[in-house]
Amino acid sequence: MTRRRAPLVLKFGGASLTDTDRVIRDVVHARSEGGPLVLVASAREGVTDLLNGAIGHPRSAARHRKVFEEVRSLHPGLSPAGRRHLPRLRRLFDLLENGTVVDAPLADRILSQGERLSVDWLAGRLRAHGIPAVPVEADHLGLITDNTYGASCILFERSGPAVRRGLGRLLARGQVPVVTGYFGRSLEGRVATLGRGGSDYAAAGLGAILRAERVELVKRHVAVLSADPKLVPQARPLAELSYEEAEELAQFGATVLHPLTIEPARAQGIVLRVRSLGDPRVLTTIGPSRSDRRNRALTLLRPLRLLRLRVPGGRQRPGIVAEVSERLARAEVNLVQLYTSSALLCLVLVPDQVLSALRALAPLTREAAAMVEGPFRVALVTAIGDGVLADVERIPGHVVVAAEGFSATPRALSIAVPEEQGPRVLRELHRALVEDVPGP
Ligand code: ASP
Ligand code: MG
Repeated sequence: MTRRRAPLVLKFGGASLTDTDRVIRDVVHARSEGGPLVLVASAREGVTDLLNGAIGHPRSAARHRKVFEEVRSLHPGLSPAGRRHLPRLRRLFDLLENGTVVDAPLADRILSQGERLSVDWLAGRLRAHGIPAVPVEADHLGLITDNTYGASCILFERSGPAVRRGLGRLLARGQVPVVTGYFGRSLEGRVATLGRGGSDYAAAGLGAILRAERVELVKRHVAVLSADPKLVPQARPLAELSYEEAEELAQFGATVLHPLTIEPARAQGIVLRVRSLGDPRVLTTIGPSRSDRRNRALTLLRPLRLLRLRVPGGRQRPGIVAEVSERLARAEVNLVQLYTSSALLCLVLVPDQVLSALRALAPLTREAAAMVEGPFRVALVTAIGDGVLADVERIPGHVVVAAEGFSATPRALSIAVPEEQGPRVLRELHRALVEDVPGP
């Protein structure tokens, strides 16, 4: 028996779909390489925001009408099956207007309509250019997620057989599946979205399930840059990142990748490529290899708050760090960063969680005479890149002096600074750790 070639997975973001002619040329080109092809698409640009706005104003019939018309106009030429999505969206809006309480599963069902329309529309455009494209809705396909509506995770073992069977059947007929990104079907059988920007994660997940040759995330303009170009004009595209670097980058706030995108690719050793639709030279490869010093990135996370917890006896008090973490975990407070010295624990968190954190720590002030100072307004500047710790001496002294906290691993080095200094420190570290660093 001859083994079929591993497919190439191409994901198009909402903004890239705006340049439909380029998308079509891109797909024609990918098909000319001869291997099986699976496409994943986001909603068209702005549609998820429109749907979110409609959900946020559940009683506003006028707003819903406007959203409906805008969404409809972005999807001309739907197939007969695709045209059924429109009355369905209308009925969902009716539910809202009639006072149905919008819980997270209902919101996800509404949000998923953007991708359902988008894949039908895109498949139609591709067929008009001779590509045998077939729209596929991921929940019907059997992409199973957990029940965390709005931020669900793909369950790979459970999804594998149905996804491989469903897509395999289409590929065996020489067809090109165009699969919805962004959502799957929860264990309870309802629509569950993967969080904003989740189509990257869906594409990486499908690639892992299919043991793809490669997964390419096609963005309209940028690939992965060394910093946000709005804050650092000298930012430049990164040619190569290791899985671990890319993961740190997504977790530390680079919005170009959904934070869960890397894990499925890493687990199966599948190369991810982030590339620009407009310019084939702008391309970032994410894979198993360690990259060199030219591939470093900086991120800025803000606004954040820092709490200083002073515990008499400090580390002498057995289990103090565990106790603090447990109390915070029980209050569902996520620590963005934790710095410790012997008497001081500095907690960095998002502003919304400060009150819960203070409440969770209150018993310690009574039982252990601990003192809490803050909240202080801070920003977190993080430099990411294999071996970055070796360049710590390049960081200007005054940045270190002004720091509220500092943490480092060989791959990520992050500094908490007073909030208003964040953008300047970001630029200074970009100069010190990216621009002024010689090649390998
Ligand atoms: N359409 C969804 C969003 O805008 C998912 C995605 O684009 O990746 O967040
Ligand atoms: Mg989108």
